[in-house]
Amino acid sequence: MREQQLLGLLGGMSWTSTAEYYRLLNTLYAERWGGLHSAPLLLHSVDFAEIAAMQQAGDWNGAGQLLAEAARGLEQAGAGALLLATNTMHRVAGQIEQAVNIPLLHIVDGTAQAIQAAGIDRVGLVATAFTMEQEFYTGRLRDKFGIEVLVPGDEDRPEVHRIIYDELCRNDVRPESREVYREILAKLVARGAQGIILGCTEITLLVGPEDTTVPVFDTTRLHAQAATDWLLGDTTT
Ligand code: GLU
Repeated sequence: MREQQLLGLLGGMSWTSTAEYYRLLNTLYAERWGGLHSAPLLLHSVDFAEIAAMQQAGDWNGAGQLLAEAARGLEQAGAGALLLATNTMHRVAGQIEQAVNIPLLHIVDGTAQAIQAAGIDRVGLVATAFTMEQEFYTGRLRDKFGIEVLVPGDEDRPEVHRIIYDELCRNDVRPESREVYREILAKLVARGAQGIILGCTEITLLVGPEDTTVPVFDTTRLHAQAATDWLLGDTTT
């Protein structure tokens, strides 16, 4: 077995989902080792207001530079791999990867592998507008893994996005928003989705497997699982 490594967690996007990552990483690690064991990691948690303003302005390059700088800091502090705790900011995954000499555990890859393992190839995606509408996410699922992605219609995507930023990223979880999501998930299933990707790391705070009739792929949990596998030396990454 290799020497114990440290995971570098790039978080704060938003803090509510990073808290969930931290809980999951420690829970999954302790499930393997038991007792008082907890996940060895370094956390750089950014101020999300700064990142969100750059997203709004379309300044992906600026946001990428900020995250690349944080990633370099984690590498210099001893991290052996990076986990970027957000789907949306994987838009700048390439910029981060170029800045460091350690692997970035890409959020799409573990999710896609779970979808393939379930034997399906057409899924619905709920996420931020950036993730639902830009090519970096659905394109990787399609081109690298052969997975077809359905996104909510024009009438629903703004509300999916609004609930993430106005509520979930502020630790505000509302039953009426759960109802909105449940209806949108049902529409995706009616259009042929064989599974649903919770493609924003806060959505797991709002809905889960009990809110739809098809399998749910929770990117927060799957990403934390991939990182735990790496920490335990179970992957070749
Ligand atoms: N955490 C969210 C995601 O997974 C949205 C916040 C962000 O833009 O990073 O996409």
